[in-house]
Amino acid sequence: MNLHPDTHAAPATLTHEGEAILFPPLPYDIGARADAATANPALQKIVSSAARLKDTGRKTICPDVFGDNYNAMRAHAGAIKQHTLDHADHYLEQFVDHATAAGATVHFAADAEQANAICLDIARDEGGRLCVKSKSMVTEETHLVPALERIGVETVESDLGEFIIQIDGDAPSHIVQPMIHKDRTSVGRAFERVLNVPYTEEPEALAAIARDHLRDKYRHADLGITGANFLVADTGSVVICTNEGNGRFCSSAPRVHVVVAGFEKLLPRCEHLALFLKLLARSATQQPLTCYTHVMTGPRRGAEPDGPEQMHIILVDNGRSEILRAPSRELLRCIRCGACLNACPVYRTIGGHAYGGVYSGPIGALVTPLLRGLENYRDLPHASSLCGACYEACPVKIDIPRHLIRLRAEQNRQRISKASDRLMYRLWGASLRYPVTYRIAGFMQKLMMRWGARRHGTLEQGDRYRDRGWIEHAPGPLSGWTSQRDLPTPTASDFRHWWRHRDGDRP
Ligand code: SF4
Repeated sequence: MNLHPDTHAAPATLTHEGEAILFPPLPYDIGARADAATANPALQKIVSSAARLKDTGRKTICPDVFGDNYNAMRAHAGAIKQHTLDHADHYLEQFVDHATAAGATVHFAADAEQANAICLDIARDEGGRLCVKSKSMVTEETHLVPALERIGVETVESDLGEFIIQIDGDAPSHIVQPMIHKDRTSVGRAFERVLNVPYTEEPEALAAIARDHLRDKYRHADLGITGANFLVADTGSVVICTNEGNGRFCSSAPRVHVVVAGFEKLLPRCEHLALFLKLLARSATQQPLTCYTHVMTGPRRGAEPDGPEQMHIILVDNGRSEILRAPSRELLRCIRCGACLNACPVYRTIGGHAYGGVYSGPIGALVTPLLRGLENYRDLPHASSLCGACYEACPVKIDIPRHLIRLRAEQNRQRISKASDRLMYRLWGASLRYPVTYRIAGFMQKLMMRWGARRHGTLEQGDRYRDRGWIEHAPGPLSGWTSQRDLPTPTASDFRHWWRHRDGDRP
């Protein structure tokens, strides 16, 4: 049965202003959103405290549980993913063979349009009218929900965070905690406005309202869409990890289950899940395991009491093959745990929407330009202090800082970066090449900064090591540095001088 928009209009509760947040006009300039975020202390407080809490939890629980083996386990997990990506064609073939043998239908989608077209065809062919969907980053990439609604399939996000985002016309801002930027008050207001319930900001009451609403949708849904945390090659299984059980409802209650996943989710063998499930849960939510882990191999068989009649698996490329070919292959190891976002001081300051894409934080600063064009996101590889916290947090040891530097170099090579930036980096590089130029550059920099501190800040007099000052307003193009912070000036003396005269000279 073909559905027509007129026969089953999407309810007014499903709004998509959020699309504009994830898909801004290109080329994207991070400046306006980053400025707005840094000028919003309430947003910073919410995002920063939630992310810090998760980061501190991960730092405590991972070494506590894994002990000295933690780094070895990260390295091992990284090596398994790297091996799988190095032999992606082999494992992909294995996965397709086993999934097909188990009764699933596997589709390949080269890009977002194709992925959506396949899903819409399934919905039309099966007469889908109501779809329940669990969290899936790939479907955000492909704009699947609006596409389904355009053909009249009401599509309801069932992950609590995504549900709130959906009814509030917002967009997710974190891979694992999509509504990290929202507080209880805004959730209560959205429920009152859209679901027509009395205002409350009690978490239990809000969860109960959402549960009532969603239970009804599960009962009547004829289409269920999920993502996949892992695809197991040697069994053809799809694995999804959730904490709310919504993934189970979406995959089992409706007659047709559609899995939409990037092919990088592959793991060679079922036994590898033991390592990855532990690392994922501890890195993402600091749990031993997520509350629900579903391993699904094909649709319902024979006399089995539940499960879908049909299972479709759509394997999406949408730019991943390019990443697989390029020196960025390592990035496809990502298991979307969100730990690098929580650890990142830039993410904690500007939040996820400032990144202007589906993926935010350090991994988003790499993946978004690679998926949607380096020339379209030339600020993102620079949205990092290169402190290395993301690398320390990553359970599959993706060397994010190294890739950020590589993308910056690539921007220079392709002359995508600003001419003034290229000139500055060239001069900087030249000054670092020889000791004499390094010393001259250091001396000049010190003179300029001390002059700047006298003119635009403070310079406290003290002895040669203590006459520090601060530049409060740097001039011209350097003003960005001091718009959020003061810049410390060097002392009158320097390290080399102190080192030569260190005996008894340093206070
Ligand atoms: S890059 Fe690493 S830390 Fe960041 S989301 Fe992916 S797996 Fe997690």
